[in-house]
Amino acid sequence: MAIQKTEALVLKKFDFRDTSLIVTLFTRDFGKMKVVVKGVRKEGSSDLVHFEVLNHIDIVFYEKARAELHLLSESFLIDPILELRNSFRTYTFGCYLAELVDALFEIHEPSPKIFDFLLETLKRITSRNISCEVLKFELGILKAAGLSPGINACVRCAKSSDSRWSWSPRQGGLLCGACAIREAKIFPVSAESFEVMQNPGFYQADHGVYKDVEQLVREFIRARVEYPIRSAEFLSSTDSFKAGLAVKASRIAGEV
Ligand SMILES: [Zn+2]
Repeated sequence: MAIQKTEALVLKKFDFRDTSLIVTLFTRDFGKMKVVVKGVRKEGSSDLVHFEVLNHIDIVFYEKARAELHLLSESFLIDPILELRNSFRTYTFGCYLAELVDALFEIHEPSPKIFDFLLETLKRITSRNISCEVLKFELGILKAAGLSPGINACVRCAKSSDSRWSWSPRQGGLLCGACAIREAKIFPVSAESFEVMQNPGFYQADHGVYKDVEQLVREFIRARVEYPIRSAEFLSSTDSFKAGLAVKASRIAGEV
């Protein structure tokens, strides 16, 4: 067993046996990994706070070759990213980003770029820029996972300009008006939503447009991950998330 040291972000945790934890981390040097933290839930242990979800920590662990679960030896709290925890909304979106990374990446695929991207986004999110930052993260992380949605042209015929766009989670992105006729489940895409998809952060759209695009991207993600992203389901169920233009959820093929 080799002793290793790396930076990590806490993605999730659950209790293990009487006094231990199993923690899923995204590390700078080893990608996603799971560690067992023995005895950390014993009364008087001061290290338990290190493993709050979204904490930025340093860890020392025993790397077991070809094993899924490694043994944590030491932990140090670098930054609890308190700004993120100042509001329920920013914290919930932070949890959504962590859950998304957990769902999209297998264990032991090192990617310092994804680690930095997640850390920087978590530190940048505020209640003012949240929609834009989350959308940029979603599109960036999908690209890193090799799952980019088609947002520049029709995913069926490659037409790059049209007066009417639709979104097909199953087909993987935008459909032009002609191709959308043959697809069963589509969502309308406004001209403003189309612009936001091309340039999230640059295009000055109102809040409702960002909400529409978020919903489209989340439908795309839902069609590609094996299990529901629980925090996304929660966000979708809140009143604030429903604000903006309503997205019609389904349409029967041929009903045009
Ligand atoms: Zn087309």
